[in-house]
Amino acid sequence: MPRVQAVRTFSASRTIAILAVLAVGATALSAGIGYDVARRSDESLWSDQRTSLRNAVAEFRSLFGQSGQLDPRFIRMIEQSTGLQNLKFESEPDADQREMQPVLDSLGRIAGFFTWEKTHPATDTMDRLMPLIIGIVGLLIGFAGYSWWQLRRTRHELSVTEELAAQAGDVDKLTGLPNHAKTLELLDLMLAERADNEITTFAIVELDGMSDVVADLGVLGGDELIVSVANRLREALPPHARCGRIGSDEFAVTFSADNGVNAEAVVRGIVEAVGRPHWIETVVRVSAHAGFAQSPGHATTRGELTRRAELALRASAKRGPGAVVPFDPAIDTVSADQKFIQRELPRALSAGELELHYQPIVSAQGGRVVGVEALLRWTHATRGPIGPAVFIPVAEQMGLMDSLGAFVLRRALKEAKRWPDLYVAVNLSPLQVRDHAIVDLVRSALADSGVPPERLMLEITEGVLIDNPEEMVKRIQDLHALGVRIALDDFGSGYSNLGYLQRFPLDKLKIDRSFVIVLGNSANGGVIIQAIVALGRALGLSVLVEGVETEQQRVLLRLAGCDEMQGFLFAKPAPAKTIDRLLEQAKRSARAPAPAEALTG
Ligand code: C2E
Ligand code: MG
Ligand code: MG
Repeated sequence: MPRVQAVRTFSASRTIAILAVLAVGATALSAGIGYDVARRSDESLWSDQRTSLRNAVAEFRSLFGQSGQLDPRFIRMIEQSTGLQNLKFESEPDADQREMQPVLDSLGRIAGFFTWEKTHPATDTMDRLMPLIIGIVGLLIGFAGYSWWQLRRTRHELSVTEELAAQAGDVDKLTGLPNHAKTLELLDLMLAERADNEITTFAIVELDGMSDVVADLGVLGGDELIVSVANRLREALPPHARCGRIGSDEFAVTFSADNGVNAEAVVRGIVEAVGRPHWIETVVRVSAHAGFAQSPGHATTRGELTRRAELALRASAKRGPGAVVPFDPAIDTVSADQKFIQRELPRALSAGELELHYQPIVSAQGGRVVGVEALLRWTHATRGPIGPAVFIPVAEQMGLMDSLGAFVLRRALKEAKRWPDLYVAVNLSPLQVRDHAIVDLVRSALADSGVPPERLMLEITEGVLIDNPEEMVKRIQDLHALGVRIALDDFGSGYSNLGYLQRFPLDKLKIDRSFVIVLGNSANGGVIIQAIVALGRALGLSVLVEGVETEQQRVLLRLAGCDEMQGFLFAKPAPAKTIDRLLEQAKRSARAPAPAEALTG
C-alpha cells in the first residue's frame, strides 16, 4: 500500500526533522547563553577586581601616604591577572588560604599585605550554567522520548489502518462478506487443501427480480434485503463452508465435504433459507436459483470450476425461481462455440471481417437524431452473423480486447467525421475500463482522428464500477479530463448500490431495455421508469432509454421525462452508409426519422 507507506515515511521523517531542528536550536541557545553568561561574568569579575585594587591602594595610601612603597610590577601583575576576588589591603591577614603579597613601608618594613582569593571564572560560569544545561538536556531527552513514543504510536495506528485497508479490499462493504476477488482466493485455497476423499463444491446463488424489489422498497430497502440475504447465507452454511458476494445480486458458496455428502441438498437448503420471508419494515419475499459445479468431478482448475458453475447457474435461471442445477456436460454446449470463436476471432480481426454498425439516438422531444451508438458486427463467412454479446467475452478471455477495442474506437471516430452534428457512443468492455491504458488509447485515437472530444461518448456498464470503485473513480475522472463524456449503459439490468453513482463523474444514464418491456404491461411499469428518470435528473445526468420498440412506449417515455431514446422504433443498427441516407432523408423531410423498416428495407 504505497500511499500508507508514504504517509508513514513522511510522518517519521517529519518527527526526526523536528527533533533535529530542536536539538540544534537548543544547543545553539545554550551555547549562546553560556557564552553570554561567561562574558558577562568575566566582565563583572574584571570590574570588581579593578574596584578592589583601587580600594586596596586607597586603603594603603590612607595609612602610609605617598611614602609607602608600592611595587609597580606587583600592581601590573594584579592588573593583568584575572579572577582575583576580594582584593584588599590588610595589616594582619589571618586567612591562610588567601593569596597575599607583602607591601613595604618607606623604611622597607612589611606594612601589611594585599590579600585576595583566587577564583576560577570558567568553573563559576559552568556552575551557574549547569542547572540551565541540565534543564535543556532534560527537556531534549523528554522531547526525544515523547517523539519516539509518538512515532511508535503513529506506526502502530498506520499498521492498523493498513490492515483495515487490506481487509476492506477483500470485503464487500454492504454485507461484510468476502468480495469477488477474495472469494476466488478462498476457492483456490479450498481446492489446494482438498483431501483425496473430499469433493469441493462451488455454487452460485442468484436472486430473482431484484430490480422489482428495488422498485418496491427503494434503494435503501434493496440494500437492507441484500444484507438480510447475506445473513441467511451465513446461518445456512454447512461447517467449514465459505460464502461471498460476487455480484450485485449473486453470492457464491464454497465447501469441501466427504464423497457421501449430498451437495445438491446443501445448496437447496441455502436457496430455501434465502427464499424464506425477510423483514424489511414489512414482510419481503425474494426467491433465488443456484447452479453448482464440483471438483474433481467437473473441473480441476478454479477457472474451469467457476465457468461450469456459471453455466449451471444459467440453466437454473431458465428453470425458474428456486431451481438448483448441478453442472452437466450436456449444458456445456457453449464451449464448442467458444472454441470456434477462439479459433476464428483472431483471423477475423486481421481479415477485416469485423465492422461497425451504428444505431441512431434521437431526442425525446422532436425526435431529431442527436447521436449514434457504434455496435460491433461480425459476419462469419460460413456461420453468418455472430453477436457481440457472444464473441466479446471470448475476446476478453483471449486477451484480444486491446486490439478489438482499439479497432472499434479508431474506426468509430473515423466514421464519425461523416456526421459532424452528432455524437458517437462507443461501448467499452469491463476489461478495457479496468486497464489504465484505455486513457492513452482514447487520447491518441482522438488526436489521430481530429474529432473534438465532446463528440465522443464512452459507454461503460455498472458492474465494472462496483468491482473496484476507488480505481474506477480515478479512471473515469482521467477519461473525463480528456473532454469525452461518459454514459452508464444498461442501467438497472443488475441490482447495485445506487449510492455509488454520485461518486462517478457520469454524464448520461442509459436505462436498460428491460424497464421498457414492462412499460404498459404492468400497472407500475411507468412509475418505475419515472422514478429512475427522476433519479438520473436529480444526479444531474441526462437520461436515455434503450430498446424503444413501440409508439406507445415512446409516448409514455416522453411523458416520463426522458431526454433521449434509442430503439428499433427509430432505427436498427445499420452500416455507416445507411445512416448517411437516413440523415439525408431526415433533413429533407425535416421531421422525426422514419421507423426502422423504411430505413433498412
Ligand atoms: P448495448 O451497448 O446495450 O447495445 C444495445 C443493444 O441493444 C444492441 O445489441 C442493439 O442492437 C440492441 N437494441 C437496440 N435497440 C433495440 C430494440 O429496440 N430492441 C431490441 N430487442 N434490441 C435493441 P447488440 O448490437 O447485439 O449488442 C449487444 C451488446 O454487445 C451491447 O449492448 C454492448 O454491450 C456489446 N457491444 C456491442 N458492440 C460493442 C463494442 O464495440 N465493444 C464492446 N465492448 N461491447 C459492444
Ligand atoms: Mg451500449
Ligand atoms: Mg445498453
